[in-house]
Amino acid sequence: MSSTIHTDICVIGAGPVGLFSVFEAGLLKMRCHVVDVLPQVGGQLTEIYPKKPIYDIPGLPEIKAFELIANLMKQIGPFHPTFTLGEKVIEVQRDENSWVVTTSDETNIHAKVIVIAAGLGCFEPRKPEIENLEKFEGRGIVYMVKDPELFRDKRLIIAGGGDSALDWTIHLADIAESITLIHRNDSFRGAPDSAEKVHTLAKEGRIDLILNASLLEAKGNGVLKSVTYKTTSETSRDLTADYLIPLFGLSPKLGPIADWGLQLHKNAIAVNTFDYSTNVPGIFAIGDINTYPGKLKLILSGFHEAALMSQSAFRYVYPDQKLSFKYTTVNGIPSF
Ligand code: FAD
Repeated sequence: MSSTIHTDICVIGAGPVGLFSVFEAGLLKMRCHVVDVLPQVGGQLTEIYPKKPIYDIPGLPEIKAFELIANLMKQIGPFHPTFTLGEKVIEVQRDENSWVVTTSDETNIHAKVIVIAAGLGCFEPRKPEIENLEKFEGRGIVYMVKDPELFRDKRLIIAGGGDSALDWTIHLADIAESITLIHRNDSFRGAPDSAEKVHTLAKEGRIDLILNASLLEAKGNGVLKSVTYKTTSETSRDLTADYLIPLFGLSPKLGPIADWGLQLHKNAIAVNTFDYSTNVPGIFAIGDINTYPGKLKLILSGFHEAALMSQSAFRYVYPDQKLSFKYTTVNGIPSF
């Protein structure tokens, strides 16, 4: 469904750096709309290492990745950012007075400034090598759970052995009519307590667990009807299903960013370290997505870049206003 949003800054990427840029922009009274292709905020921290401790955030001797993201969300709360999640930014175009950022679901965000905080690029699902995969993508085969309600009272096959496969099996067990979890090994890669919960659900008969099995083929007439799998000990079998959800992890790809006329260097956006502006006026790039001599792909580098970027972004958004630098201890947090 298409929708239109108007804002001062469109931040592409809801990783730690994109989120912190909302804070720095907010201090200068600029409103932000944040877009991410993933269904949740947090970028690499939420997607790759949510429970790992981080030791190099200034003032926080140790903090788990998911806690840092929760803190950032709390910190930007007073600025009331808006979000479009689960949609990929595919195009940026110049309008008369603003930029128009368009997503895969036809959301159009009109913004005076674009801040690209897209990290390593778009996380794209690793797909299983099975027959008829493309035929049923979006017609029974989905790679992300955006809205669990879609699966209410449906027959699901979840494939994978990592955290996502385990967590969604546990979560959807109360929602779906039936769940079969298929994994190619007999041990899971995901967190041990989640693996234990999955085994308990199987023992209680609330899910079916098929280990040492691989997917072979998707079947149906226009929409998915069944999935063929094979275990090491038996010949292939068909399993009736409304949805197949392969959760084999995500791998980052630069994706559409490469087509926006930006100067790239080794799959990253070249920026001016004065303010992390790109070669296109009004577009900035901060965090892991940018490159410059001496660049370190660290969260704290991205936070610093967000602060400097905001000063120049202010001049775009308010060309007639004078910017004066103030400490938060002096000014507090401006009200929105
Ligand atoms: P990301 O976190 O990558 O977020 C970018 C977001 O942009 C993603 O959510 C992506 O989906 C989205 N996106 C991309 N393209 C599009 C598009 N076209 N449309 C919509 N959305 C898009 N750093 C440290 O400082 N300390 C550590 O201890 C540390 N440990 C790490 C451990 C691991 C295992 C890994 C993998 C990294 C670690 N890092 C650490 C690095 C740190 O995670 C990155 O520097 C940080 O995530 C960069 O943040 P970001 O916001 O720039 O990008």
